[in-house]
Amino acid sequence: MSRLLIIGCGGVAQVAISKCCQNSEVFNEIMIASRTVSKCEALKAKLEKSTDTLITTAKVDADNVKELVELIRSYKPDAVLNVALPYQDLTIMDACLECGVHYIDTANYEPEDTTDPAWKEIYDKRCKEKGFSAYFDYSWQWAYEDKFKNAGICGLLGTGFDPGVTSVFVAYAKKHYFDRIDTIDILDCNGGDHGYPFATNFNPEINLREVSAPGSYMEDGKWVEIPAMSIKREYDFEGVGMKDMYLLHHEEIEALGRNFPEVKRIRFFMTFGQSYLTHMKCLENVGMLSTEAIDFEGTKIVPIQFLKALLPDPASLGPRTKGKTNIGCIFTGVKDGKEKKLYIYNVCDHEECYKEVGSQAISYTTGVPAMIGAMMVVTGKWCKPGVFTTDEFDPDPYMEALNKWGLPWKVDEDPVLVD
Ligand code: NDP
Repeated sequence: MSRLLIIGCGGVAQVAISKCCQNSEVFNEIMIASRTVSKCEALKAKLEKSTDTLITTAKVDADNVKELVELIRSYKPDAVLNVALPYQDLTIMDACLECGVHYIDTANYEPEDTTDPAWKEIYDKRCKEKGFSAYFDYSWQWAYEDKFKNAGICGLLGTGFDPGVTSVFVAYAKKHYFDRIDTIDILDCNGGDHGYPFATNFNPEINLREVSAPGSYMEDGKWVEIPAMSIKREYDFEGVGMKDMYLLHHEEIEALGRNFPEVKRIRFFMTFGQSYLTHMKCLENVGMLSTEAIDFEGTKIVPIQFLKALLPDPASLGPRTKGKTNIGCIFTGVKDGKEKKLYIYNVCDHEECYKEVGSQAISYTTGVPAMIGAMMVVTGKWCKPGVFTTDEFDPDPYMEALNKWGLPWKVDEDPVLVD
């Protein structure tokens, strides 16, 4: 029995909340708090008829630590699940620290304003020292390690699918299949079709920032950075078929590189259709992906935020999207002196997700692990003082929960490798 405060009520949050309501034995009380409280109330009205979970709602600006602290003190949750945006990670962590409450999220911190000189100075130094230039990295949240330890609270970072489940797959492969892992290729394939010429499957601003950035991977403990979309492979995915995929920078590479230093190479690939890439290139070329404010007839406009307002809301793609996702990790390594390879993956059907919770599979594959991560923390299965990624705990209860809560996984012991 626990009480969870959930911050955010967008595409991912709506799935996480629906799943908490299916899991009333663990989450007997939840509060949905977000910037637009009408969305929280509408979701409460939709869910409360069919759940034993007691749902309350509140309005909160999660950029404001004082407001968050007041809300946490009045609701007294066992943990806070942050499914707002990565911009709010640090303010919500600060509030959890002040109130002595566990913290869970699905994506690592990045700043909303990338021109902020204080942030930029640290960012420029990190780019030089580490060798990758994505706006996000773990250093900001890992810096809370001692503070969380001293406060006796747990911070579980990045419990979506990737990062999140993919890192649990790594811990599971290491525990059950390998004495030594040599390479990891994380593959994220979305074979879904929503029928729009161009739309993103989760928050457009966060998504377009991620995919338009230079790619990078880790080899022998060092980052190798490449121009965006410059490494392309083809792969035949079960449930989807042949797809083009491109090497991207992705946050779990950083945590896995730190926590599994034996692994010689860690890469991340995501599938994109030609139409998506052509639209993205065009938007980038005309400056629409810029995160820097411009002056338009006396009004400050951030081009990527304006673009977000024009694009379909990812939460609205559910009823239109057909097809499947296939996301997982290919491993090579050694077991009992013999070379071994393995693919652990999940296949998820957009239309089935919509039938179950009214969302497409990208929100579903993120929202289910968000609920599972929160469950691991509040039930004490994964709860220790400090700040952790999902590869740092016993993977077995989480893997079991994936099977139970809608994301069953498979193991292929003879996968085709990516060259
Ligand atoms: P959405 O844009 O659909 O939803 C974001 C929600 O956060 C909205 O309800 C929004 O409110 C709310 N919000 C934004 N700013 C604030 C604020 N200052 N105070 C309170 N609430 C706020 O995003 P998604 O659901 O697509 O994504 C949610 C998170 O999931 C993101 O961090 C994303 O990076 C992560 N993610 C992780 C994945 C993984 O596999 N690990 C995959 C996909 C996403 P409002 O309605 O007012 O705008």
